[in-house]
Parts: sequence; C-alpha cells; structure tokens
Amino acid sequence: MASKRILVSGGAGFLGAHLCERLLDSGHCVVCLDSLVTGSRANVQPFLTHPNFALVVHDITQPLPAGMVIDEIYNLACPASPPHYQADPVHTVKTCVYGAIHLLELAQQCGARILQASTSEVYGDPEVSPQAEEYWGHVNPVGLRACYDEGKRCAETLFFDFHRRHGVEIRVARIFNTYGPRMQADDGRVVSNFIVQALRGEPITVYGDGLQTRSFCYVDDLIEGLVALMAGPSSVTGPVNLGNPAEITIRELADRVLMLTGASVTVDFRPLPQDDPRQRRPDIARARELLGWAPSVPLSVGLEKTVAYFRQHLLAA
Ligand code: UDP
Repeated sequence: MASKRILVSGGAGFLGAHLCERLLDSGHCVVCLDSLVTGSRANVQPFLTHPNFALVVHDITQPLPAGMVIDEIYNLACPASPPHYQADPVHTVKTCVYGAIHLLELAQQCGARILQASTSEVYGDPEVSPQAEEYWGHVNPVGLRACYDEGKRCAETLFFDFHRRHGVEIRVARIFNTYGPRMQADDGRVVSNFIVQALRGEPITVYGDGLQTRSFCYVDDLIEGLVALMAGPSSVTGPVNLGNPAEITIRELADRVLMLTGASVTVDFRPLPQDDPRQRRPDIARARELLGWAPSVPLSVGLEKTVAYFRQHLLAA
C-alpha cells in the first residue's frame, strides 16, 4: 500500500489520537491539526518524535495554513462532550461550519478525499429505534445541544454540496457513543465520569432516572470503521452509521462499572440535562453491507480495558 499524506483535524483529541496512531502504524504521513482546546498534546506525545508525524496547532475556524498538499483528510475537529461543546456554543458552530468549509476547500484544491466525523446527534432525540441513515432526525434547533447537533447537520450539508457542485470525494460517518483509553478524566461523558468516580470512591452521578439508553462502541472498532469508510469505493459517500448496536440503560452501565471496579459507592441521581435523548441505537446494516464492518469488542471487554487505563492514568496523575 502506498504511503499517503493524511491530515487529521482534531488529531489530538480522543478519537483523533487513536486514528493518528492507526495511520502511522500503516506507514502514512500524518499532519495533526488541533487547537488543543479539548484535545491535548499529551495524547499525541508518543508520536511527536515519529518522522512521519507533525502537530500543527491551529483552530480550523480560521483559514488554514497555506501550502498544505494532502491526499486524505479526516475532519474530527470539534468538542464532542456536551459540557465542552456547550461551554462556547458559538465557537462550536463555527468549528463545525467554518471548519468544514476550510477543509472542503482544501480537499477541492488538492483533489483529496475527505471524511467528516458526523454524529448520532444529527438524529436528536430520536422517535424511531434503531436509527437508520434514512431517518432525518428530531432535533430541537434552539436547545442547548443545537450548537453541536445543528453544526454537525450543517457540516453534512456542506459536504454533500461540495460533492455535488465541485465533485469533492466525500465520506460522512455518523459516530455513535464511543469510549476507551485516552478519554480525559474530565471529559464529562458518561463512561469516563462513571469510571473515574468509582475509582476515586465518589458517588456515581446518574442524570434523570437513568432509564435512557445509549449504545457504546469501543474505540478500536470505531477507528477501523473510519478507516474502512475512507478506503471504501467512491460510490460510498455515506452517511454511514458507525457504532455498536448493543443498547443499555445508563443505570445498567453504572452497575457494570461498579461491578468491574469493585467500588462500593452510592448512586447520586441528578437532574436530566435539557434535550437529553431518551434512546440511541445505531442500525449498522449499511456499514455491514457496504464496508463489511461491524464492531467486535463487547462492552464487558472494552470497559475492562478502559477501567485499566484509568486506574493507571489516575494513579500516575
Ligand atoms: N450521563 C449521566 N451521568 C453522567 C454523564 C452523563 O447519567 O455523569 C447521562 C447523560 O444524561 C446521557 C447519557 O449519560 O443520558 C450519555 O451522556 P454522554 O454525555 O456520555 O453522551 P451523549 O448524551 O452525548 O450521548
């Protein structure tokens, strides 16, 4: 396989760092573009001395550095945890929209193939389950989550318009809840919150009644899905759901984390955040059929690896 020059925006984030590692391991040259707002230098520290890796600290809401010649682009740049993307909602919209425009223009100039990390949030608080790509979603356009949901929806629109108008080769992945090593302890999402709380002997914070559901995909599975989508035939623009269809309630997740960590802490029920989706489960028939992709790591195994990571990480901190 020929070595490619690949740009990963958001490459110092949780998913981005795993993707950079995967691409370097395959012999590619990787330029990681990251503002380091929610991503961290620590995530890419092991690659900084790699001859095929470069970190460029840059915010994609701003015009991109000149002179980049690139074969492929993965756009993963955007805070993805609700407390993080809501901290500066206007900047979140700009990251999704201006960021997509800047990267699509670069793809057009270079003739590069470009993949957008979209999200299950485009389905909002879904009225159907599981969610297939044909479903147009149920998003509150003026709610607290809208900066992310509508930002990502607009990015999808831009991708398809650049494809139709300018012939840019696009791929759109709709990523469902993903977890694993390298999540930050203060990420704010449920898997890292529960594990960190259990390991620190603090109460587990369940929002609402905890009967809302999510479907959690282990990070290695997700990265393989992204790479398979990028490598897929040109006809496969997407959108393609990438996630693990095994659905559980948040309460059940709390029980699993308590069991795995051996922690005996209380469960602290907190108010449900506004517009929190009641259910979420991907229909992955399209990914199976078009990419031959399906997740293989069960939650029990993935959680164990994530707990082991945080045990080591929190002890070292
Ligand atoms: N959640 C929770 N406790 C936490 C963090 C999240 O009960 O400490 C809930 C949250 O309300 C939601 C689910 O877990 O129903 C998943 O939340 P997360 O922020 O991980 O992802 P998203 O809502 O974007 O799917």
